[in-house]
Amino acid sequence: MARSLPDGPSDDVAVSQTSVDLPQGGTVRPMTRWGDPVMHRVAQPVTSYDEGLRSLVADMVATMYAADGVGLAACQIGVDLAVFVYDCPDEDGVAHRGIVCNPVLELPEGKDRLLDDGEEGCLSYPGAFVACPRPDFARVTGEGLDGSQVGYEGTGLFARCLQHETDHLFGTVFADRINDRARKKLRKAMENAADEYPLDWPVGVDPQHSGAGQHAD
Ligand SMILES: [Zn+2]
Repeated sequence: MARSLPDGPSDDVAVSQTSVDLPQGGTVRPMTRWGDPVMHRVAQPVTSYDEGLRSLVADMVATMYAADGVGLAACQIGVDLAVFVYDCPDEDGVAHRGIVCNPVLELPEGKDRLLDDGEEGCLSYPGAFVACPRPDFARVTGEGLDGSQVGYEGTGLFARCLQHETDHLFGTVFADRINDRARKKLRKAMENAADEYPLDWPVGVDPQHSGAGQHAD
């Protein structure tokens, strides 16, 4: 998921206790765009928690940071596998970092279901943001990089991110969740920003110089 607001100072940011160390040393890969079939089908489940998975996840992490994203699903680098990564602040500004394989999403129901009408953007449709109402709290269960059971929950942008990335692994992009008018606005914004995002983006982006809102709006 793309970040719609400039990143705050990254020093001394509070990190959630449930955060894990994301694998480093991966290779930045070109971002797969909406329209590619891998973005619009249910991903294959993860069954092997091996070096191949670790290597894939390291590439996903490198690509997410190069693109200044807050979350990334495997299909966004063209891989048909049900795993996503994130490094995303919640509504209190606390950073959540993690990896989820085979995610199962739980959302509030009834009177607990409150919609957050915030803006959303996707690294696979870069440079475009529109409001997308979603529950303001989400919980995801699944497996971590070693196959152990994990469960993460949160608020704010992090709640949105858990929903957005789980959606990706079920072949849903957020344009599927907005009305025609919003979808047209989104498309126009993406087309207007297209020059900033060559087809191999974010390959070649210096991570030191991404961020600070460069890709916002
Ligand atoms: Zn996305």
